[in-house]
Amino acid sequence: MSKIIAVANQKGGVGKTTTSVNLSACLAFLGKRVLLVDIDPQGNATSGVGVEKGDVDECVYDLLVDDMDVKKVIRTSSVENLDVIPATIQLSGAEIELVPTISREVRLKKALTPVKDKYDYIFIDCPPSLGLLTLNALTAADSVVVPVQCEYYALEGLSQLLNTIRLVQKHLNTSLAIEGVLLTMLDARTNLGIQVIDEVKKYFRDKVFDTIIPRTIRLGEAPSHGKPIIAYDARSRGAEVYVDLAKEVVANG
Ligand code: ADP
Ligand code: MG
Repeated sequence: MSKIIAVANQKGGVGKTTTSVNLSACLAFLGKRVLLVDIDPQGNATSGVGVEKGDVDECVYDLLVDDMDVKKVIRTSSVENLDVIPATIQLSGAEIELVPTISREVRLKKALTPVKDKYDYIFIDCPPSLGLLTLNALTAADSVVVPVQCEYYALEGLSQLLNTIRLVQKHLNTSLAIEGVLLTMLDARTNLGIQVIDEVKKYFRDKVFDTIIPRTIRLGEAPSHGKPIIAYDARSRGAEVYVDLAKEVVANG
């Protein structure tokens, strides 16, 4: 059975793209068929799996705004078992262009339906906002992964995100679940990180993934080589933790 998972948090720089890319690649590495959908106009997930944005003719914009056939937009990535629907800067207009269109929140869901069963997992890397693009992701998704950076003010803004999730559950997608809250970029040398872990666990309880992503140099470097960590340095700590996370997601069912 296939599962669509949105990776969302309206805060920028919390690890959404790093998690989308590496969780997708690790599940592909474990033998799952995976599709990564980039809906951030910055296109960092696209380049993160080895697709040059300059080489992209058809992108997720064509899917959302022009009703293009999804099969024309899907590309293979640098990783076996992992396909990608790329985003380019063209997508930055979509948020506004979609406003007057019919069923504007349901466009991604409809677009993905014909290929849903071809994949075990479909991940959607969201932009840092709660606008129409993120609403499309939450409407298409079975569940959502919420990366939270282990820093001061970690919980700030999360009530807004949870409120949006509740509204989507009420009006657009009654079966949307929270897959898990993921603690990211933990700096093990500081007490602050430990405090944040406690705080987030107190708030989200069993919704927090056991796997915690540390801040590592290799995870920061991999995107500039167009490779997920499992391809860039399979023996690194970063690869190990994202494989652990992939196994947790599989175990969640
Ligand atoms: P978002 O998609 O939420 O904006 P990113 O995943 O792009 O966040 O992460 C922001 C920056 O931090 C990027 O430069 C990324 O390479 C880096 N980064 C993310 N996670 C880690 C990590 N665990 N260790 C080191 N650098 C990281
Ligand atoms: Mg991002």
